[in-house]
Amino acid sequence: MNFQKKIYRYLFFVVLICFSGCYTPPEFKQITATKPPEKKVPYFISQLDRYSVREWKYIVIHHSASESGCAAEFDKFHREKRHWENGLGYHFVIGNGNGAGNGQIEIGNRWMNQLNGAHAGIQEYNHYGIGICLVGNFNTSYPTEAQMNSLFALVKYLQERCYIPAENVLMHRHCKETDCPGKNFPYYQLLAKISRY
Ligand SMILES: [Zn+2]
Repeated sequence: MNFQKKIYRYLFFVVLICFSGCYTPPEFKQITATKPPEKKVPYFISQLDRYSVREWKYIVIHHSASESGCAAEFDKFHREKRHWENGLGYHFVIGNGNGAGNGQIEIGNRWMNQLNGAHAGIQEYNHYGIGICLVGNFNTSYPTEAQMNSLFALVKYLQERCYIPAENVLMHRHCKETDCPGKNFPYYQLLAKISRY
C-alpha cells in the first residue's frame, strides 16, 4: 500500500511537471496613453477657417515672374504703380524663401475681406476667381517642393470650402493670353494629385 501511494505521488508530480512546462501565461494588452494621430492639415491652413467666404467659382494660379518677393512687396507695387486702392491683386501669395518663407502662405487683404481679385485681367475671373501667386519665374526656374505642397494644401482647402471643382482650378493662361505661371509650372502634376484625393 505504501509503495502504491508512493507511485501515485510520483505520477502526480510527473504530470504536474509536464503540464507546467506547457503552461504559458496569458499576454496582457498594454494600455498606454498614446496621442491621437495628428490631422495633416498645416497650421496656416487651419487659420483660414476664421474668414467667412462668399461665392467663388475658380482658382487661378500665377507666378510672380520675379526671383523674389512677398505679399507686402507686391501690395506696394499694386498700390503705387497700378494705383489699386485695395492693393495686392492676389488673394494669396506663396513664398519661395526669397522675400517670404519657402512654402509660406501669405493671406491678402482681398481674401480677408472677400473682395474681387485684380489678377486675371478678365472680369469674370477677377470677380469669381481666387488668385494665388507663387513667388518665382517658372519660365526660367521651377516652384520649390515646399511651394507645391503648400499650393496643394491651399487649393484642396479652398475647393472644399468654396465647392470649386477640379476643372475650375486654372492657370492664368487658361483665362487670357499670357504665359503665366510659366512654362515649367507643373500644372498636370497638381491636377493629378488633386483628383487622387
Ligand atoms: Zn498671372
